[in-house]
Formats: sequence, C-alpha cells, structure tokens
Amino acid sequence: MPYKDFLEDFPLFKKYKAKFWDALNNYPKPAINMNCQSCKSLQTFSMTNEFFDLKEYINYPAAGCKVRLEYLCQSCRNFTREFFIYISSNLDYIYKIGQYPEWEIKIDKNLELTLGKHLSVFKKGLVCESQGYGIGAFAYYRRITENIIDELLDSISELIETGDREKYKAALILTKKTRVTQEKIDLVKDLLPTVLRPNGMNPLGVLHSELSEGIHSETDENCLEVAGHVREILTFLCTQIILSKQTAKNFTNSMQALLNKKK
Ligand SMILES: [Zn+2]
Repeated sequence: MPYKDFLEDFPLFKKYKAKFWDALNNYPKPAINMNCQSCKSLQTFSMTNEFFDLKEYINYPAAGCKVRLEYLCQSCRNFTREFFIYISSNLDYIYKIGQYPEWEIKIDKNLELTLGKHLSVFKKGLVCESQGYGIGAFAYYRRITENIIDELLDSISELIETGDREKYKAALILTKKTRVTQEKIDLVKDLLPTVLRPNGMNPLGVLHSELSEGIHSETDENCLEVAGHVREILTFLCTQIILSKQTAKNFTNSMQALLNKKK
C-alpha cells in the first residue's frame, strides 16, 4: 500500500518522495498497523475521514495542501491517531507537519540490552530524528557507533564460521591499533558471517560508506536520511548478534540434553 510505511514510521518533516495525485479525492486510504494505547497492543487502524474534508469540493487540487487524517483502532473503535500532512506544490513529496500521539521513541529490547550505558545518547539521536534535526541525529548515531564499535566487532567474532575465524581474529587485532571507526570497519567488513548479511547485503559496508559521507556540507534533510540508515544498521547488527547467540545457545543446550539422555 502506498505511504503505509510513511504514516507508521516517518518522523516529522522527513520527506516521503513519490509521484502524488493531483486531486484530493484520488488519495488512497491505506490501513496501518500501530500501537493502540487503549488496547495496549499493535492493532490495525483505518482512516475514518476524507482528504478533502473542509475543502469546498471533493476533487480539490492537492498541490500545496495541508490535510488532516484521522485513524481509528479497529479493535476497540475508541482510540484514534491523527496525522497532519503537507503535500508539496509539485506533488513530488509529502511530509508530516504534526502527529498525535507523537512519533514514538521506541527502542527494541535487544538493542536496549546491547547499548547499555550508551542508551541515553541513542535516545537523543531518536529525539533529534523525530524533530527533523538530521545533523544532530547523525552526530549522535556516529558517536554511538564510535563508542560501541569495539564491542560490536568483538561479539561478531563468535558468529564467524570456523574456516574464517582465524582470519577474522587477525583482523580484529589490527582494529585495536587504530582509533578511527571507519578504519576499524574497513578491516573486518568483508569477513562478516552470512547471518549478518541479509540478502547478501553487507551492513558494515554500508555503515562504512554512510559514516564516511561526513556532515560538513550536508543539509538537515540529507543527514536525516543517512542518520536513519545508520540507526537501522546499528539496530539490525545489535539485535541479530544477540538473537544468533541465543539461538546457538538454545541449540547447544537441547543437543546436550539429547546426548545426556542417550547416555
Ligand atoms: Zn484499540
């Protein structure tokens, strides 16, 4: 569905670029899945009003319009979410100018565990992101990356397939000799285990290039996009490392139990 992700995940002022319809009555009304504060769980919300509400006619030109969308929880039919959206005058992007309840600063439980004492810096990054302060968000996420990179690379070593483990360990020793995060990442990024490469993509490779971009001349808008990528990569790596270790541990335990039984 068009702009479902935009409504669910995008912070204020972050542009969602696409080709948009020129009349308000042509806009689709996708259902969204978000947390309901009454049901206290993830629920489906459906849009209950029209894009052209408060306009003189239904096919009112969309260019430059600000519209209000109201979404109702389909389970309790009580809790509502509201979005205020700006449609660009060239119909090439939209962004949120308001949202109630506000964009949630939600942190994955596994990520919270991994971040530990760095959690407060990560939260500041999220707050910046929620307000559209891309430069600030990027700076906070880069700081987090610098703070946790050694731990992160260390914990990856346990997931490396046996054949590559020596190679990885040798590279890991070299990473301790530099203080530059990008150089550390560069040393090990090609040795990532398959569990950390979704669809063959290399998150450390992407992280390396995103961090190298620098923010010196970039706009808030561009930084916001890069910051979002950095956050997603950190989240993916931290949660995936914890999950993989947990799965391996469960597997070992159940195998051990099986072997003990046979004895
Ligand atoms: Zn509900």
